[in-house]
Amino acid sequence: GGADLACDVLVLGGGPGGYSAAFRAADLGLKVVLVERYPALGGVCLNVGCIPSKALLHVAAVIDEARHLADAGVTFGAPTVDLDRLRAHKDQVVGKLAGGLAAMAKMRKVTVLRGYGAFVGPQHVAVEETTGPGQDKTGRRQVVAFRKAIIAAGSQAVRLPFLPQDERIIDSTGALALARVPQRMLIIGGGIIGLEMGTVYSTLGARLEVVEMLDGLMTGADRDLVKVWQKMNAHRFDHIRLRTRTVGAEATADGIRVRFEGADGSQAEGLYDLVLQAVGRAPNGRKIGAEHAGVAVNERGFIPVDVQMRTNVAHIFAIGDIVGQPMLAHKAVHEAHVAAEVAAGELLGDAALARRAFDARVIPSVAYTDPEIAWVGLTEDQARAQGIAVTKGLFPWGASGRAIANGRDEGFTKLLFDEATHRIVGGGIVGTHAGDMIGEIALAIEMGADAVDIGRTIHPHPTLGESIGMAAEAAHGSCTDLP
Ligand code: FAD
Repeated sequence: GGADLACDVLVLGGGPGGYSAAFRAADLGLKVVLVERYPALGGVCLNVGCIPSKALLHVAAVIDEARHLADAGVTFGAPTVDLDRLRAHKDQVVGKLAGGLAAMAKMRKVTVLRGYGAFVGPQHVAVEETTGPGQDKTGRRQVVAFRKAIIAAGSQAVRLPFLPQDERIIDSTGALALARVPQRMLIIGGGIIGLEMGTVYSTLGARLEVVEMLDGLMTGADRDLVKVWQKMNAHRFDHIRLRTRTVGAEATADGIRVRFEGADGSQAEGLYDLVLQAVGRAPNGRKIGAEHAGVAVNERGFIPVDVQMRTNVAHIFAIGDIVGQPMLAHKAVHEAHVAAEVAAGELLGDAALARRAFDARVIPSVAYTDPEIAWVGLTEDQARAQGIAVTKGLFPWGASGRAIANGRDEGFTKLLFDEATHRIVGGGIVGTHAGDMIGEIALAIEMGADAVDIGRTIHPHPTLGESIGMAAEAAHGSCTDLP
């Protein structure tokens, strides 16, 4: 009682997790309400994450590729960049996809409620209507009763508390807004997001510095992969500070003065026109009234779930960034399908659906830098740490006809096979288009393939993807004569 609206499934948050869950639940015949505070569906990924960053990275890659062509005797002049049009192009990419999502929601008869949602009880969410481009409240409030709920409220950028409020200190959302291109840019945090944005700004003319607390950049990936990227990108950086903490900053008329402290106690400082904080993302678990529904949220703000994406409250599920690492859109989407199908199975009495579980063996990671770095499953570092003996199959792109023809043969493809079972357990690629190829290795791991399966699968010649077959052959000993 007391509800303005009732549904089978309420989905809180319209990002890749939320809209995927809503669409799947609707396809299974359920009445779905999807609550999103912002005007467009798509969440961080579509609006201020994966998609706008790739739109800009594509432009950067083409500019860099045009420069590489000088080696082939083709030169263009220095690019002239109209930032307003570049920004408009990026916004148009986002807008096109957002329009597609809105149409798909309508086609499926998913009710999209624009507003800020929070649980007010175990079967009810209150939605405070929001308007405009932000989260301005209109004062209208609706209570939605649900039979099942799926929490997909995502995450937000972590802010270093000691940095001053200044428009020259931005997070990834600010970086994607592309207000201007600075001369001297500091990136705090040497992870994927920071280095992707750094790639864009550097190609547009900024000099980069990066500061990282750990002892390497992109520490999730094996060092041999990262080394290739680092060598190719050294020209972008004036300074890479590792094992260094950012300890303070001050906004001055000539720039942001930032202070650093090395692990060895050394002190340093620098002056920057723009500072990008890319030190990680924090889940939104504490902002959705979870306690009113009895949903447990851990001390870091994540919501613990089981393999069916169920929280401690049986009829409430959670998916995506809010349930933990890795915070990736493709992970959110697959978790969404599990949650929606389990919820639907229980409501429809479909035992097979109700038994669904999230059982992905591996989730690929990609840095869309230039070259790209992609990896999936066990890394060599992890295999070593876990005491798993692996056979490595390596194919250097210096022997790939296609990579040489492209003028980009700095990369390599690496496959790791469990010595005990001979099955593939991991793989990594560094090189152009690595991200587009890593899915094959993920499939091989999911299918339990061994080196012979992969090596004898005929890959088209001459392609970069062929390097995966070649790496497998390198692991099981036979050789191919193709260049
Ligand atoms: P989100 O996308 O965060 O969506 C949550 C939604 O819920 C948001 O729209 C939010 O407004 C809404 N919401 C939250 N609380 C409420 C509330 N109380 N009421 C109403 N609505 C609410 N991942 C990749 O896989 N590949 C990439 O290339 C990639 N690039 C990235 C680049 C950047 C710069 C960033 C920041 C992230 C990137 N990611 C990438 C990560 C990816 O964006 C996230 O993993 C993904 O968006 C998570 O999806 P989600 O549905 O869990 O949450």
